[in-house]
Amino acid sequence: MCVRCAEEKPAWWLSVCPICGKTVCHSCATFAYGRYFCCNACAAYFFHGDPEEEGSGE
Ligand SMILES: [Zn+2]
Ligand SMILES: [Zn+2]
Repeated sequence: MCVRCAEEKPAWWLSVCPICGKTVCHSCATFAYGRYFCCNACAAYFFHGDPEEEGSGE
């Protein structure tokens, strides 16, 4: 079941977000970098590779 639209979808129409592990259908998913994400935030997280650290020194 998709966490966004809460509809039952065929397994092939669902993807598990590689960031948070939520299941989303391809209609609701954000497609980026060759993967499906549950939301833009997860896609951004995947791209940056680290949690949002806003100027943690260094
Ligand atoms: Zn959906
Ligand atoms: Zn996610």
